Amino acid sequence: MQTVLPEAQTYLKARKSKDCHGNHRENQQQVDQRTRDVKSSGRDRNGPEARPALDPRVAYLMVNLLEEVMRSGTAAGARARGFRVPAAGKTGTSHDGWFAGFTSELLCVVWVGFDDNRQLNLEGAKSALPIWTEFMKRALEHSSYRDAKKFPVPAGIARVNLCSESLQLATPECPSTYPEYFVDGSQPAEECQLHAASQPTPDAGGSSADLRGHPGPAEAPPTPIGNRRLSTHAQDLRER
Ligand SMILES: [Zn+2]
Repeated sequence: MQTVLPEAQTYLKARKSKDCHGNHRENQQQVDQRTRDVKSSGRDRNGPEARPALDPRVAYLMVNLLEEVMRSGTAAGARARGFRVPAAGKTGTSHDGWFAGFTSELLCVVWVGFDDNRQLNLEGAKSALPIWTEFMKRALEHSSYRDAKKFPVPAGIARVNLCSESLQLATPECPSTYPEYFVDGSQPAEECQLHAASQPTPDAGGSSADLRGHPGPAEAPPTPIGNRRLSTHAQDLRER
């Protein structure tokens, strides 16, 4: 792999040969400085520098959304074609078709389209995804990519069960619930008010309209940070 230092030297040569507008001295100094910076940082010896670009908790929530795309969204076809290891990804469709997906060991992006931008008239799920799936299945035959692991949950993530109707914390009375991940501290704090177990019922045949009339549950629960927006976004991702 080419290191940063030779790249800087190549850049220096290119600038030398092309610059004919009196800026040569200044550009030369800039490039010399950059070369010195690269040398002193040691990056030319150790390869590219890796650094966190996103809060790991936020990154995990995004990975979790993209895993759902493969479980129940537009990329579920990859599972139907026998690609079983933990993975996440997203289809894209405009006049062409895309699929970008990854495991813990390998990322692959597939684009299918025409060079002259003609309409492909085929969604990413039907154009790019099958190619991605076949490529990744073959990649799994290589030892470098075989050991795809579950995406690790970082510290500071809370997993809670929510009521599918109220999006509040599920109670044993809730007919439909689902697990959801949050940045710890931003998860809903209130139990489901639609299916509360010990709700006093002064009026016979209490309905949700009666519940709304009570002073206690009348107020809408505070919106947890990011939660509903992320949940809605996850729904969008599944449908696209
Ligand atoms: Zn409920």
